[in-house]
Amino acid sequence: MASILNWEEKINQLKISNPDTYLIFKRIYKYNTDTGSMNIPNSFKDNAISYLGDKSLSNQENLERIEQQKIIKFYNIWTGEGAVFNSLRAKRPGIKAGNRENQLEKLIQDSEENCDFCNPEKFTPSDSFGRVKSEFCITAANLAKYDAYSSLIIFKKHNPLDFNQEELSDYINTAFKWFNRVYEYDRRYKFPFMVWNCLYKAGASQVHGHAQILMTRDFPYAKIENIINTSINYKKQVGKNYFSDLYKLHHSMGLAHSKGEVKIIVSITPLKEKEVLVISPNPPSKSLEAKKVIFKILRNYIDVLGVESFNLSIYCPKYPVNNIPYLIKIIDRGKLFSKTADMGGMELYGSSVASDDPYNIIQHLKEIL
Ligand SMILES: [Zn+2]
Repeated sequence: MASILNWEEKINQLKISNPDTYLIFKRIYKYNTDTGSMNIPNSFKDNAISYLGDKSLSNQENLERIEQQKIIKFYNIWTGEGAVFNSLRAKRPGIKAGNRENQLEKLIQDSEENCDFCNPEKFTPSDSFGRVKSEFCITAANLAKYDAYSSLIIFKKHNPLDFNQEELSDYINTAFKWFNRVYEYDRRYKFPFMVWNCLYKAGASQVHGHAQILMTRDFPYAKIENIINTSINYKKQVGKNYFSDLYKLHHSMGLAHSKGEVKIIVSITPLKEKEVLVISPNPPSKSLEAKKVIFKILRNYIDVLGVESFNLSIYCPKYPVNNIPYLIKIIDRGKLFSKTADMGGMELYGSSVASDDPYNIIQHLKEIL
């Protein structure tokens, strides 16, 4: 099975079979591979195997795998994103599954009592220009605003993990209706942003399904500005479209897929687990294909891969010009009842350490898309 740990071999093959795409890799990324070695005392061998061993291997094979760990590190020269992979980390202690399904159901059920968002017109503020109301959701002003225009899409359904295609499409369409409303209301606000923090691990303070919608002025939020600048600088210096090159490279390496005009990339520099990038030339509100792809990924993550808490964000170009495509990012934020945080100092101040192999993720996505 393909693995990110075999990158060196694969990229050397690409150098021969497709030198142009290999050049894209050299232009965008730096990487290296290494081996981390250690000696495990006899008294700790059983524990080490129980923490990190693979049941299909013999004890001796497991010990060798643990004592000689293969590491691969990537850095995107243009965006500053970086990730480190070590296949052993996926099984580190503290992330074993417990009796979560019942706990999760109970959390969702219990939180329904006295839930303000179940009655949004009564228990949430409205924007100064009113609310956008739709079949499956309604907007509300954010009580503690991130920014001058910082509002919420409150889903009709309390359970944030329970949504069908029609409902998800309605949430997205409503976000774009709200962006238009703000822009019509005050033309200085040109930078839309949507982010759905699903459940606590993803940063949500309320269980009830809701997403954040923002419009800002003068300049976009930092990470969006960074990607816009990357795209401009790349075009200036290389003469090519950054996103097309990014897709071409990932596609050649087996890490990308497309559905109509929509492109799907599982990046070699994910911010954290299962991060997927969906690139849509059109606003998702106007692209049925984009909405279908987003829906299928989310449902697969929740129903098949057991994702309980996630972030979904939509980077939009500046109103009304198209300086970047619409970039949708989805990321798993870890198990809701696990004591470990998914991100630590490495992610915040060093490079992201990812356990999920991008080749496993793209394999899943190719099957369902
Ligand atoms: Zn509710």
